[in-house]
Amino acid sequence: MLSLPISDAPMVKANDAPPILRSPALMDLPYIQHGFSTRTCGNLATRYGPPAEVAAARRTFARLTGIDSNRVAHFGLTHSSRVGLVSEADAVPIDETPYRISIRGLLCDAGPHDLSFTNPQGVSNQSGVDCLITTTPGVSLFMVVGDSAPVLLIAPGGKAIALAHVGIVGTVNHVLENTIRTLCRIVPCRPSEITAVIGPTVGPCCYALAQSLTWAQVVAQVFFDEYGPKGPGIVVRNDQYFFDLPAAITDVLRRERLLPSMIHAMNVCTACPHTPFFSHQAGVAGRFGTLLALRQV
Ligand SMILES: [Zn+2]
Repeated sequence: MLSLPISDAPMVKANDAPPILRSPALMDLPYIQHGFSTRTCGNLATRYGPPAEVAAARRTFARLTGIDSNRVAHFGLTHSSRVGLVSEADAVPIDETPYRISIRGLLCDAGPHDLSFTNPQGVSNQSGVDCLITTTPGVSLFMVVGDSAPVLLIAPGGKAIALAHVGIVGTVNHVLENTIRTLCRIVPCRPSEITAVIGPTVGPCCYALAQSLTWAQVVAQVFFDEYGPKGPGIVVRNDQYFFDLPAAITDVLRRERLLPSMIHAMNVCTACPHTPFFSHQAGVAGRFGTLLALRQV
């Protein structure tokens, strides 16, 4: 039975949430700046709100996190296993539209069986990058999600940072394995030296697999073929299948040889009643953000 890292984040509800939350584990690292925006900060996705409001919310998020809002690297999320490297040339203002990373920054490509190539709508996702790595201080990694987990990885001494987008498809696609191996190669370092934070994400309380078209049509067969009926993250409750994404991510991190004492989970469900976050699962229209940067000295 997999035991989760103990949450070190305070429990907060929507109506009393501060505009950003931070992981105490990273606040002890002086060379790291990071934050997770809440509904109090505002919706960060133009799909769910007027561009001017989204731009204002993004700039507020950057200001509260203490990063330079004009030096931000965005993601083009597609649940792939691709890992990209960004530097000063890739940084844009936080309120610009997310863009695709240039091919020169691709550190790890998706394999031929990457599940992001198909989805229930039949759309092919050939160009997404679901993890960004940087070694450049002051260039912030920025991700906007609704329920998938932002996973923050810090190399020893702040020599490099990674921000990965990990949902159930990314888990099966092994985006975290690609991220950790790439990070260790470019620093270089050992997995046991990496600090990991699993950000706010949908918990096993709310992630019913029977309601997931993606699970039924894309993931289930591959997942059970690889892991069997009791794979990491599978929870059976009242004869229904639920998915514990933080547990599945923790399982990957441990199998990749990160130390349990270096793995920290926010353990805040994005889909519970009164969640302080926007949530696709809970029908709370909007997206929240994650920012991660090496502090410019
Ligand atoms: Zn929940």
